[in-house]
Amino acid sequence: MAAGVILDRDGTLVDFVRDAEQGVVTPAFHPDQLRLLPGVLEGLRALRDAGLQLGIATNQPDAAKGRVPVEAIERTNRALVSMLADQGIAVSAFEICLHHPEGAPGGPPSLIGPCSCRKPKPGMLLSIAEQWGRKPVELWMLGDTAADLGAALAAGMNCALLLPVRRCELCSFAGQAPSGRRANLTSDRFDLLADKLIAAERDSAT
Ligand SMILES: [Mg+2]
Ligand SMILES: [Zn+2]
Repeated sequence: MAAGVILDRDGTLVDFVRDAEQGVVTPAFHPDQLRLLPGVLEGLRALRDAGLQLGIATNQPDAAKGRVPVEAIERTNRALVSMLADQGIAVSAFEICLHHPEGAPGGPPSLIGPCSCRKPKPGMLLSIAEQWGRKPVELWMLGDTAADLGAALAAGMNCALLLPVRRCELCSFAGQAPSGRRANLTSDRFDLLADKLIAAERDSAT
């Protein structure tokens, strides 16, 4: 049985925020904007009950682009962890990449430039594996984008991908890495994907 699942945040656990008036789609930057996607709580409970550790690895480049203070991102992340804790779901590792290669005016220079953590790089995933004392091959990355798949492949982890029928308006990803490699599992709902992951682990254990 695998040891743990590393979860993406936006589009996987938490819905994007859509401003209909301005036609803008952004991640949640305030605790009040946090909306768990359908099936997330059920899926997380199933993963927990299967004995899997849960961690989160999220790219949050909007501070580097001068759009939002780092503190707003961190406060929102803390609120997400406590929202899940209230539901009996423990997040035992949380990694965040605040960097962006180019940044934008108003972004703190310290956050602008290349880094080894921004997915599809594997830095955050490998850091969580180390925190858990596990080999990458014992872990899953569960996300919704090409960056999540790329990070899983680069880290040597299994990958479960959420490919919603009506996905984020900003994305055109259909589940295949540039190399042609695909995720181990896909589904359009978090709980169904979690069930597939658990079933795949049970199959491989017998
Ligand atoms: Mg995502
Ligand atoms: Zn980074």
